[in-house]
Amino acid sequence: MSAQPDAYTAALDRALLHALAWLASLPTRPVGPRVDADTLAALSAGPLPPAPTPAAAVIDELASFAEPGLMAMPSGRFFGWVIGGTLPAALAADWLVSAWDQNAGMRFATPATAVLEETAAGWLLDLLGLPPKADVGFTTGATMANFVGLAAGRQWVLERAGWNPDRDGLAGSPRVRVFVGAERHDVIDLALRYLGLGAPIVVEVDREGRLRPDALAELLDTGSGPAIVCLQAGNLHSGAADPMDAAIDVSHRHNAWVHIDGAFGLWAAASPSYRDQLAGLDRADSWATDAHKTLNVPYDCGVAIVSRPEVVRQVFGVHTSYLVAADGTPANPGPGNPFEKVPELSRRARGVPVWAALRALGRAGTIALVDGLAANARALAEGLSSLPGVEILNEVVFTQVCVSFGSDDRTRRVTQQLLADGSAWMSGSRWHDRDILRISVSNWSTDAADVALSLAAVARACAATDAEGASTDTSAADATTAARPTDPRPPSDDRD
Ligand SMILES: *Cc1c(COP(=O)(O)O)cnc(C)c1O
Repeated sequence: MSAQPDAYTAALDRALLHALAWLASLPTRPVGPRVDADTLAALSAGPLPPAPTPAAAVIDELASFAEPGLMAMPSGRFFGWVIGGTLPAALAADWLVSAWDQNAGMRFATPATAVLEETAAGWLLDLLGLPPKADVGFTTGATMANFVGLAAGRQWVLERAGWNPDRDGLAGSPRVRVFVGAERHDVIDLALRYLGLGAPIVVEVDREGRLRPDALAELLDTGSGPAIVCLQAGNLHSGAADPMDAAIDVSHRHNAWVHIDGAFGLWAAASPSYRDQLAGLDRADSWATDAHKTLNVPYDCGVAIVSRPEVVRQVFGVHTSYLVAADGTPANPGPGNPFEKVPELSRRARGVPVWAALRALGRAGTIALVDGLAANARALAEGLSSLPGVEILNEVVFTQVCVSFGSDDRTRRVTQQLLADGSAWMSGSRWHDRDILRISVSNWSTDAADVALSLAAVARACAATDAEGASTDTSAADATTAARPTDPRPPSDDRD
């Protein structure tokens, strides 16, 4: 098959057309998908076609097949889980990344993408107020970014305990105690499983889900040996951050490595109005965040930041003859290769859309983005609290709002009505033993009109629920609530 540019033109033209049609549909289409996966699966059933199909026809078929099953996640009225939209410059840059098709692992082989990612990394460290010499790796998401920080921590604390995990593995090693807040994200436990570190030691939190440094100190005191403390900037439900200064002091007094999961909440540090919530943040040892959430670059892009480049490169560096190492010494590690900072060897240049997003926003635009999300969260909370029977359960300090509509039953039914209405999407969740509707404002394009339309949609959902409630026997729903085991952790629909 020819690789002449013309071979691409028809397919890319169709892709542009379909992409623009999708984006143009966002203001008016229902936010949720119109068909479910089983329905689509039945439509797509069929063996692999025996003969080739022209690329442009494949793209047409793809777009029309997918359209009814797409969730309008880039909509300004999508508030589910914690999911950002896509800034225009980031989306277009992402297309170029695919067209360039660089395997972005080696600085020497793909200098353009390596340097663009290094520039983006420098901008990120500057915006977030983190040490300028930290290593920055671009991962698939915060799950893997947390894995990177915790892997670096494992290496560092074991080496200081006189154990070489690279040579001797973990069998027989000193036990690494890992401390986490009771309301950490589930993927911290997942990363610890990947790392063979087992279940963490759980530290009590306050009513906003913030880790209590006094409780952490007590637990650290009860044992000794290598320790990692994993803090959180941005509680999934409240948006609150752990008290960084106090928790980092306690941890470092015990020689623990401090990692911070700031998948969305780390971005508070970019804004003068919110960064005080994270005071002391820069003294941690590693940080994880997402660009595909608050920064609004397309999926997928997480950011793994480690204060000690030599440690992360020790863990993730690969030294075979065909990979050209970047020059550097322990004292002056130099920029390093992209592959030395993340788990993947081969990967797309996913830091390039980050470069484009930051280049387009500038410092002022990035601050305005973060401030705008938090302001919209406050506006939604204020609007909702004026509806009858509505309670806002968290202090709205950042982008997250937890809403109860009275009983668990009413909250669940309002949530169902809202999703059926289709004008806005918010997730059902469970927090502090109550069913809630959770709002995460993460989309750059949400404006005052979206906020007003979303509030109106919730008000309609309440009215519909109460009208239905007057004519329905709710004993079945009550029985479901009673039968539910009390689980202090968020339910499984709560992955983001
Ligand atoms: C979203 C999120 C994660 C997981 O991030 P992914 O990008 O989905 O891998 C981890 N921690 C927190 C606090 C999150 O909000």
